[in-house]
Amino acid sequence: MLRITELKLPLDHSENQLKSAIIQRLGINAGQLKSHSIFRRGYDARKRDSITLIYTLDVELENEAVVLARFRDDPHIAPTPDTRYHPVAQAPQNLATRPVVIGFGPCGLFAGLLLAEMGFRPIILERGKPVRERTKDTFGLWRQREFNPESNVQFGEGGAGTFSDGKLHTQIKDPHHRGRKVLTEFVKAGAPTEILYLSKPHIGTFRLVSMIEEMRGTIEALGGEIRFQSRVEDILIENGAVRGVALANGETIDADHIVIAAGHSARDTFKMLYERGVYIEPKPFSIGFRIEHPQSLIDRCRFGSYAGHPLLGAADYKLVHHCKNGRSVYSFCMCPGGTVVAATSEPGQVVTNGMSQYSRNERNANSGIVVGITPDDYPGYPLAGIDLQRELEKRAFELGGGTYDAPGQLVGDFLAGRPSTGFGSVQPSYTPGVHLGDLSKALPAYAIEAIREALPAFDRKIPGFAMQDAVLTGVETRTSSPIRIKRNGDYQSLNTRGLYPAGEGAGYAGGIMSAAIDGIKAAEAVALNIIGKRK
Ligand code: FAD
Repeated sequence: MLRITELKLPLDHSENQLKSAIIQRLGINAGQLKSHSIFRRGYDARKRDSITLIYTLDVELENEAVVLARFRDDPHIAPTPDTRYHPVAQAPQNLATRPVVIGFGPCGLFAGLLLAEMGFRPIILERGKPVRERTKDTFGLWRQREFNPESNVQFGEGGAGTFSDGKLHTQIKDPHHRGRKVLTEFVKAGAPTEILYLSKPHIGTFRLVSMIEEMRGTIEALGGEIRFQSRVEDILIENGAVRGVALANGETIDADHIVIAAGHSARDTFKMLYERGVYIEPKPFSIGFRIEHPQSLIDRCRFGSYAGHPLLGAADYKLVHHCKNGRSVYSFCMCPGGTVVAATSEPGQVVTNGMSQYSRNERNANSGIVVGITPDDYPGYPLAGIDLQRELEKRAFELGGGTYDAPGQLVGDFLAGRPSTGFGSVQPSYTPGVHLGDLSKALPAYAIEAIREALPAFDRKIPGFAMQDAVLTGVETRTSSPIRIKRNGDYQSLNTRGLYPAGEGAGYAGGIMSAAIDGIKAAEAVALNIIGKRK
């Protein structure tokens, strides 16, 4: 099999044109091409009126060696590499103790799956409920203002990414094919096969729910165990090494290997780890608002006359602006054709985020417009970033009227410095509701100043971005973890042996894919340690 990269075709090409392009590129006759499949398909929309598709293709040929020899010096034609993932270990027959994984988000799910596949029969502890029950609780906040602190957008089976856009792209280099492993497992669990080849794949919320249930079944069938409503309240440490965990229900579980994949909202868990002396340091994160525009505005700007083309789907964007006050403002977690969601995990607080369905056909585009901040903005002690998040989220709750409505403002009014009193052409999607007013008190002055400078700059890239009626809702504070639980090269905590900090909460991931990949790495490290090899 040979791999051809960077093969470009116009957006509206036929299957026959693709075949012809392969034949032409390789200088072969039609009979020599036995089969072809798409490994990757992206697009180049820099020229809106001539959008091209860019393919990476695997082709099976008669006389492959001869063709390959002809293209010896061509970097875009080479033998197809083996992209299968290979497990690093196999559990011994007499496994002394089972590894424990805390959290069943993407990181814990893949740590658990890999440990189970290698025969280590992990015990996975998740504070929230199974995904169907969790969905009801999450809708309880969105529809009835009833908040459950243990079962919500952040906590429960599937973790934070369950009610999301399910964007799966990552910039991570993948020499061991862990990313491919993640996508392959998702497809086995019911994701559309296109996620294997699209350059910007996404799944959407409803599919994720059934996929997660399917993957839970796989882990259990392999001897793993998943316990819901099992919040880890304490880590038992003796002589600098973990010995087990204590659950909120009083039960203790012995374990010498514990993966902590608790996500970025496990504030009580971080506090417990800090009090137990586990080494934690503060880390930069970002704060800001969600912004909503008509999706049609983004589609037109990105795709021109191709707006709405089925191969392109709803358009996304990625924006960044470096401000005069030294801050950077950027778009975060852009959700084409999606909704803004209430994403708090603590009572009396308001946090925004975004999600979508697979179809991405809601009327609004939304993204976080956030300002990067660093520990210099929240000095003091390692958990000070969490204190800042809480302060801003409580303030947002109050500015929203104390009913879980999000405080909001129209972009035109925000830029002009006047409170908003009524919506225009953009209806916000956040539920339970948006309480219009003045957002300038919702964030520190430097962040407001930076966002006020960035929006007109973004408007120069996407005309209409700073339109009067676009809606801002606040606050976006859970962009990434405000802490890092430092680990060594063997993935164990700097000062607590047997503790494997992993995923977004520990400061090693930012998104579904990177969290899942980090879960695989943590599982490999645990497995190698148990069988006596170093990672
Ligand atoms: P989490 O997913 O946060 O999982 C941690 C789990 O640990 C949770 O289930 C929690 O209940 C559990 N837990 C916490 N403390 C304890 C404890 N003490 N005991 C037991 N269990 C505990 N990323 C993308 O890549 N694409 C997207 O489109 C996208 N959209 C998003 C939309 C929303 C609304 C949100 C909230 C996030 C979105 N993200 C998206 C981010 C993505 O969800 C996270 O990066 C990812 O889920 C992090 O994975 P994780 O496993 O590290 O942590």
